[in-house]
Amino acid sequence: MEQTLSIIKPDAVKKGVIGKIIDRFESNGLRIAAMKKIQLDDEKAGGFYAEHKERPFFGELVSFMTSGPVVVMVLEGEDAIMKNRNLMGATNPKEAEAGTIRADFAESIDANAVHGSDSAQSAEREIKYFFSENEVL
Ligand code: GDP
Repeated sequence: MEQTLSIIKPDAVKKGVIGKIIDRFESNGLRIAAMKKIQLDDEKAGGFYAEHKERPFFGELVSFMTSGPVVVMVLEGEDAIMKNRNLMGATNPKEAEAGTIRADFAESIDANAVHGSDSAQSAEREIKYFFSENEVL
């Protein structure tokens, strides 16, 4: 069993598609092991995306991620990291395959509906960044 961190970003929360996105996970064998709705501030969002600090879009990314509440989750299942990435689709929704979350619910490369850990190493860091051990059940 593998675990991965998923975030439903502010655009998708505002649109009211939390339930539809969670349904994609549960219908595809991913169990919700932890979940909370939170408002990120600059420090928490900036720390989460620290690896992108030098990128030209870092400021935009932090300001988007703090523009409204997000839902953070730990998804658990066989091959959870890859499975979640496949369900999400490409970073740019215009390039995302039909039927993926980003193709169906996202508008642009910054407002792209969801985040998912991209490796076992980042999953471990990202889960710890948002959840204590006794919140992952
Ligand atoms: P992901 O793993 O598919 O989320 O993509 P990355 O880790 O490469 O980028 C993190 C997030 O930064 C993406 O989900 C986008 O929201 C945002 N992002 C990536 N590239 C760009 C860009 O060129 N412009 C803007 N505004 N945002 C970007």
